[in-house]
Amino acid sequence: MSTEPTTDSQGGCECGAVRYEVAGPLRRVVYCHCQQCRRTSGHYVAATACLPGHLNLVNDDGLRWYRSSAIAERGFCGVCGSSIFWRPDHGEYMGIMAGTLDTPTGLTSREHIHVDDASDYYTIDDGLPQLPQEHGKLWEKDGV
Ligand SMILES: [Zn+2]
Ligand SMILES: [Zn+2]
Repeated sequence: MSTEPTTDSQGGCECGAVRYEVAGPLRRVVYCHCQQCRRTSGHYVAATACLPGHLNLVNDDGLRWYRSSAIAERGFCGVCGSSIFWRPDHGEYMGIMAGTLDTPTGLTSREHIHVDDASDYYTIDDGLPQLPQEHGKLWEKDGV
């Protein structure tokens, strides 16, 4: 029942020093409210994901990596500061900040995770599932 795009998604940072292509399916968007996501994004993260082998870095001149937790690194542009990737150490998928995709993305949204860590100035009322933490199945979904 997948309705996700299957080929040729493209995206990049605000300044263009990081550009990428995804030659494969993208996961539906997951919103993460954890502290690391809040601080690196300035709000909360909206992330899709692809299989690592489907990601092609067209321009990685600006790409920098920051270890934000014991389980993952975050890729960002060292020139303009855009938050772009979330790379878990297990290597099963590559998280991609959905806002960095060129539009139209064709994506829909799936759920909120780490809502126990959400800040106090907003409410989550879009009707999507809200998970207090996460469920460890951030890739295996949607028929992809
Ligand atoms: Zn940039
Ligand atoms: Zn998070």
